[in-house]
Amino acid sequence: YMGKEALPRKNSSGIELTDPIAVEPLQASVEKMRGKEFHGGPIIDGVMGRTDEPVHNPATGERIGYTANASREQIDTAYTLATEAQVAWDRLGGNARAKILDKVADLYEEHLNDLTALIALEAGRTLNDGISEVREAVDFCRYYANGARKHFSEPQELPGPTGESNELVLTGRGVFTAICPWNFPLAIFTGQVVAGLASGNAVLAKPAEQTPLIAARAIELMHEAGVPTKVLHLITGTGAAVGAPLIEDPRLSGVAFTGSTETARLINTQLADKEGPIIPLVAETGGQNVMIVDSTALPEQVVDDVIQSAFLSAGQRCSALRILCVQDVIADNLLDMLKGACEELTLGDPSKLETDIGPVIDDKALKILEAHRERMQKEARPLFSFDGDKVPDKGTFFGPQVVEIEDFDLLKREVFGPFLHVVRFKAGELEDVIRRINATGYGLTFGLHSRIEGRAGAVFKRVNVGNTYVNRDMVGAVVGVNPFGGQGLSGTGPKAGGPHYLFRFANEKTKTINT
Ligand code: GLU
Repeated sequence: YMGKEALPRKNSSGIELTDPIAVEPLQASVEKMRGKEFHGGPIIDGVMGRTDEPVHNPATGERIGYTANASREQIDTAYTLATEAQVAWDRLGGNARAKILDKVADLYEEHLNDLTALIALEAGRTLNDGISEVREAVDFCRYYANGARKHFSEPQELPGPTGESNELVLTGRGVFTAICPWNFPLAIFTGQVVAGLASGNAVLAKPAEQTPLIAARAIELMHEAGVPTKVLHLITGTGAAVGAPLIEDPRLSGVAFTGSTETARLINTQLADKEGPIIPLVAETGGQNVMIVDSTALPEQVVDDVIQSAFLSAGQRCSALRILCVQDVIADNLLDMLKGACEELTLGDPSKLETDIGPVIDDKALKILEAHRERMQKEARPLFSFDGDKVPDKGTFFGPQVVEIEDFDLLKREVFGPFLHVVRFKAGELEDVIRRINATGYGLTFGLHSRIEGRAGAVFKRVNVGNTYVNRDMVGAVVGVNPFGGQGLSGTGPKAGGPHYLFRFANEKTKTINT
C-alpha cells in the first residue's frame, strides 16, 4: 500500500461501449429511469426526510426529482447519533470495516447501469463519463478498504531500544464532514465518504446541491452493504443553508472538501474561528492547467489528447486543460487540425451513445462561460467557436471555444467549461513558460508532448504541480495508479487515491510499556 500496494486489488473494468450487446442493459436502464421521479433529501439514521425542492436534468430542464435543505435539527440529530456510534465503528477495526467497504464496491458494480443512467440524468455526464465514474467509485472503496486493513487493524510495532515495548496505533478522529462537488457526483463523493469511514470516523456527507439524487442512492447502497445508519448520514442542501451548521458544530473532527478555492478558503476561515481543537481540512480545489507541446510532438496524438483534456466532460473537471502552449513553428498546422476535430464533436443528450459533450451543470455555470466568451471576444484572438446551430437550445449547453492569448495574466480565475486558451512560445523560451505556469499559483495537472530525450524529467522537476502527464491526455486519474491532487491554490493534499490519504483522517497514538 505504501509505494507498491501490498494487498491485491484490481481496478474495476466497467463495460465496453462499442460492444452493442454489452451496452443494451445500460440503454434499458436509461429508458427505465427516464420520466421517473427520484428523491434525494436528508437521510438521518437511514430514514429520508421530506423533500420539496425540485431537481432538474441539465440537458432538458425537466424535473427528475426532489431534494430539500437539511434543517438545523436534522444536522444536530446526525451529529448526536454519529458521535455516539463512531466509537463502536472505530473499535470494529480496519479489517471488519474493509469487508463492508468491499461490499459497497460489489453493490456499485451490480448497479453499474442504474448508477450510470442516474449520473447522466442528474449531472448531464455522458454514459462514457458515467461508467468511468462508477469504476472510480468502486476503486476508491476497494483501495481505502485495503488501507484500512493495512493501517487500521493491527498496531504497528516499533523498536524499544531501552527495553520498553512500543507500538503505534491509528484510530478515527471522530465525526468528519465530506463536502462534495457535482462534477463527479458519485466518484468524489464516494472517495471522500469512504476515506472517512475506512479510517474509523463517522461521516456527515454533504453532496453538491445540484446532485443530491445520486448521492442519496450511494448512501442507500452503503447502508445496504452494512455501514451502520448511525455512522453515516446524508446532509443535502445548499452551502448557504447547511454549511454553517455543519462546520460550526463543536462535535466536528475534520473536513474533506472538493470544490472551488474560494469555498475552501471560506471553510478554512470558519474552522479557524472555532473554539476548541484545530480541525484538519483536506481540500482539493481548482486548477489553471497547462499543456506544453513542442515541435517534436506527434500532432494527431496531440489533437486527440487536447480534445479529451479540454472539451470532453464539457471541460468540467478540475484537471481539465485550460491553456495550451504550442511552439510557434508547429502552431498553425496543429491549430488547423484541432479546429477540424472540434467541428466533428457532437453536443447533445448525454444519455445517448453518440454524444461527446453534454450540458454544463446549470444556468449559473452557463452564464459565467458566456460572459467569459464575451470578454475573450474583446481581449483575445478567436480561433474556433463551435457552430451555434449545432448547440441544442433546450438545456444548459455551451459549445467548445478556442482563443489565442498573449499572456496567462488574462486568466486570473479558473474557467470551468469547454474553453481552451492557446499561447505560442518560441524555441529557447521553455524556462519562461514554466515560470509562468508556476506563477499562476495553481498546481494541479500539467501535460507535456515532446519526444526530446530528457525533457520530460527536466520539466517535471521544475513545474510545481501535482499530476504531470507526458505524451497522453491529462485527465482521468486512476485510483492507486495516478494518485490525484495538487498544491498551492489547487489544494492541501494528500492525494486522493494515493497511499497517504487516509492518514489525514486519523489520530495517531503510541503506547510505551516498561517491561
Ligand atoms: N480526478 C479527476 C481527473 O483526474 C478530476 C477530479 C476533479 O475534477 O475534481 O480528471
